[in-house]
Order: sequence, then C-alpha cells, then structure tokens
Amino acid sequence: MNIALIAHDEKKEELLKFVDEFKEEFAKHQLFATGTTGKKINELTNLPIHRFKSGPLGGDQEIGAKIANQELDAVFFFRDPLTAQPHEPDVSALVRLGDVYNIPMATNIGSAHILISGIIRGELKHA
Ligand code: PGA
Repeated sequence: MNIALIAHDEKKEELLKFVDEFKEEFAKHQLFATGTTGKKINELTNLPIHRFKSGPLGGDQEIGAKIANQELDAVFFFRDPLTAQPHEPDVSALVRLGDVYNIPMATNIGSAHILISGIIRGELKHA
C-alpha cells in the first residue's frame, strides 16, 4: 500500500513514536511524507520514505495531488488542533480531497491505532 505520513510540529513526537512502534508493518509499504516529518521518521527508524516539500511550502498540496491521482491508500495526518497553521488552507484542502476520494485518514493517535490495525489485518478496501 502507499501510505502518507504528516504531522504538525506539536504532533511530530507522537507520530514518530507511533511509526516506531509499528515499524515492522510500515516497512512493508511504500511511505510518503511531508519534508520535515519524513526526515525525522527516516532518522529515527531508517525506513525508506519519499519526502515531498515541507508542509507550509507546498508538501500538503503535493500529497493532495497524489490523493487526487488515486495514488495513496491511507493517510496518517496528525493535525495540531490548538495552533494556527500558516498553511491552513492547504491543510483543509488535503483533508477535503481525502473525503472526496474516500481515503482512510487518521488525524489523531486514537484513529491511527484503528487504521494501522486495519492495515495489519488487510481489512482496507484497497489493500
Ligand atoms: P513538515 O510539514 O513535515 O514539513 O513539518 C507538516 C505540515 O505542517 O503540514
């Protein structure tokens, strides 16, 4: 499966911990990420990961384009709901496209555990 990983600054530690915990599973998939998130994941886990631009510099839109081209199967997008983001329009656009194309998207650690469980069990429609 093609999986995208994105985390806002205040959520990066949480996503890193999560990816590390499920490293064995993530290693079986093609991974994509926004710039800084991808760099940190690769440094921590050594997992190969295709990095787009940093989120505020267009990375969210690049991932949105992959969704629109139906090239992503699942998205882990740990949003920070308590901090204003300079690229909020891009964030909304990405989430919107996820809904347009019915992409399973976890936006917090709670739903991330459910989504990774589904991926591990091969329960995703596109898996
Ligand atoms: P980053 O982008 O991984 O480059 O920090 C994430 C975001 O803010 O969308």
